[in-house]
Amino acid sequence: MFEKYELPYAFDALEPVIDALTMETHSTKHHAAYTNALNAAMENAPFDEGACIYCVMKGLDKVEDDALRNTLRNNGGGYFNHNLYFSILSPNAKAAPEGELAEKIDATFGSLDALKEAVNKAGATRFGSGWAWLSVTPDGDLVVSSSPNQDNPVIEGTGNEPILGIDVWEHAYYLKYKNLRPKYLEEIWKVIDWAAVEAKYAEAVK
Ligand code: MN
Repeated sequence: MFEKYELPYAFDALEPVIDALTMETHSTKHHAAYTNALNAAMENAPFDEGACIYCVMKGLDKVEDDALRNTLRNNGGGYFNHNLYFSILSPNAKAAPEGELAEKIDATFGSLDALKEAVNKAGATRFGSGWAWLSVTPDGDLVVSSSPNQDNPVIEGTGNEPILGIDVWEHAYYLKYKNLRPKYLEEIWKVIDWAAVEAKYAEAVK
């Protein structure tokens, strides 16, 4: 049974960057729906009881039934992606990374601003719904990418571990930003907590 990630901050805590109604709907409707649909699908899926979300995302090929596999892909991805997204947002966000992650970002992208620009471009140019990612490759390098729908680098079989994910589905920003996805992407960095991303980076390179 997968448990929905419960926000450790109030729905209005990320105002004015993300409005309270968007956060409430996102967590209690969208994310709840992904979690519930994942749990329902798991009842018919060829995974051990208590299988981790990685086991599901990496093991989709084991699911022979097309409809069940798609359900697990969409809702397992939705479950994992939103857990990551909500857990790296904070009203007390650390504004910039330090230490090894900061050094790696500078070495890879040139600067933190250049990384943000690359992530924003990945998100802004994703046609339709999807995600923008910063991930760690199996060699420990950093890479920016985007995925359609509720896919992610794990489901895509890249071997990369996402440490930062930005939801670019309209439900993540439309109430406040309307059609201006690039504006949402520009603003969201104010509530991305680099302390949380640093912890995920440390875990990924361990
Ligand atoms: Mn979402």
